[in-house]
Amino acid sequence: MTLGFIGGSGIYESLDIESPHKKRVETPFGDPSAPITLGTLLGTEIAFLPRHGQHHEYSPTEVPYRANIHALKQLGVDRILSSNAVGSLREELSPRTLVVPDQIFDRTRHRQPTFFEDYVVHTSFAQPYCPHMTAHLGACGEATDATVAEGGTYVCIEGPQFSTRAESEFYRANDWDVIGMTAIPEAKLAREAELCYATVTGVTDYDVWKEDAQVTLQEVLDNAAANEQAIKRLVERAIETLPEERDCDCQRALAGAINTPSEAIPEETKRQTELLVGEYL
Ligand SMILES: [Zn+2]
Repeated sequence: MTLGFIGGSGIYESLDIESPHKKRVETPFGDPSAPITLGTLLGTEIAFLPRHGQHHEYSPTEVPYRANIHALKQLGVDRILSSNAVGSLREELSPRTLVVPDQIFDRTRHRQPTFFEDYVVHTSFAQPYCPHMTAHLGACGEATDATVAEGGTYVCIEGPQFSTRAESEFYRANDWDVIGMTAIPEAKLAREAELCYATVTGVTDYDVWKEDAQVTLQEVLDNAAANEQAIKRLVERAIETLPEERDCDCQRALAGAINTPSEAIPEETKRQTELLVGEYL
């Protein structure tokens, strides 16, 4: 098992990856956000990718999501854990709470959401996160001092601006839980690559709906740093107890999903997506 990890530089520094070395990976979809750090964490091989680049240079819209997921697949990763900083849409999900979402509402508009542009592939996305890994992460919450909420809906907005108050109230009226900018298309592409994907989010603030809870940037940064420490402990427990073999449908997500006959797919397109669909065409 090689575990992929997509997160920010703060979480990278808090994870104690042994024998780390950086590897540059090229993909048919361009270069990933940064060289990938390979090493081991508690005996498990890990491939760490900083989502926004080594110097936080990619905005949520500009992150090369397809190259990132493809690069991890090329390295033999079969499961991806990710971490995100999020705003809370609920009073009870206070700053420094960790939330392991099990649903996503997609409000992005300017991103390429599929590897398959020149043929038709309809994968199931009713459960956008791997249900097994999500349950596993939730069960590891006792490893941290932080409050860990299992389940919830992550609203993914385009950004880079934060929400208006009207938008934030709309999300709350739908009973959604946390808001961020990067779950989509990361989760969609992981599914298309037949990789398990789960996320642990750390609440840094109350988005903009809570008028009496305006915080300073320094408070947000302090909350993010505290969350990273809590996420580190949760992730370490998850890695120690993750089953060696997968037992979920993610690994066969493309079975029966390709709707274009093989002979109608251009050869160049087949070559570009060979790693993903080779066994099905
Ligand atoms: Zn899975």
